[in-house]
Amino acid sequence: MSQKLQIAEANAAYITEQDVWSHFNYIFSSRSKNSTSYKFVLIKSLLENLYNVNSELELNYYQVFESFTKIYWNLVIHHKLNQINMTGKKAGVQSELEEFQTAHSIDDSIVFDKLPAQQQLRLIKRVIKRSKINVMGAIYGDTKGHIYSFDNKKEYLKLTPSFYKFMQKYQKVIMYLANYQLALFLEKFNESGNTEQLLFKIENVSKRSSLDSFYHILLSLYQNECFYCGKPVLNRTGNHVDHFIPWSFIQTDQLWNLVIACRRCNTSKNDKLADDHFLEKLINRNTKLLEINIVYERTDMQLYTPNKLDDLYRYSVSNGYTEIWVPRET
Ligand SMILES: [Zn+2]
Repeated sequence: MSQKLQIAEANAAYITEQDVWSHFNYIFSSRSKNSTSYKFVLIKSLLENLYNVNSELELNYYQVFESFTKIYWNLVIHHKLNQINMTGKKAGVQSELEEFQTAHSIDDSIVFDKLPAQQQLRLIKRVIKRSKINVMGAIYGDTKGHIYSFDNKKEYLKLTPSFYKFMQKYQKVIMYLANYQLALFLEKFNESGNTEQLLFKIENVSKRSSLDSFYHILLSLYQNECFYCGKPVLNRTGNHVDHFIPWSFIQTDQLWNLVIACRRCNTSKNDKLADDHFLEKLINRNTKLLEINIVYERTDMQLYTPNKLDDLYRYSVSNGYTEIWVPRET
């Protein structure tokens, strides 16, 4: 049974877009065994880490399951949503998180990114241990090994090139599908909330409660003016941390995609892409950041390449971010 596999090579055959669509059709259908929400949350976690792959298209488990644990924690502990299709039972990961919460007397209101770093790390390790048994083999089996290989001993997975291209090309619509299917699943097995309310929670489940730490890094390292209009940055309250590639697309916070923007620019840019001369400016900014040693110790910066940012910009446009924003004249 594929679910119990420990090491599995990807099927080497080239797969077409049609093949990947048919796998997703299967995963999202009632034919696929979805007794828990694992598959939907794993797909969301892969999407969040699409631009964290190394040059071999590998992701280590820590990266993938940091997203997975965060999403689960926020759904299970913060929103109190059951993740299994049986009453009186709990999904393995769900029990793991609830036991941890009880043992450390953590309040329900605490979202994942507010937990101390040490606790986050311990939780991620526990979730990895659990997920090796149930999660990694399940989607591998559903997709006939077409989308990734994985190794539970070395704790990494490797996306196949055709699947990776597919995910970049259809990132937004796959995210919509995964969120919607997760909402439908949760609606069936939870008393509180309708699809619309659940979707809202799911769409925001990965959002950090504060970007303050990024603001301080950016301010201390180089930036004392608005990235877009050049207005001086005087205080925290009048300025924002802006996701250059909109958060609604990338769904993650990477230093190389974040800039300080004045409130006026941030508000009017909102969910749009900035004109491509700002792309060039950001690539130059990131090159400068990499010359500062302390930044190079950050995993997000280690995995950054100018090509990734360039790709991400192009794929944002092809995924529908076609409205291009420029700052208003001051
Ligand atoms: Zn500005």
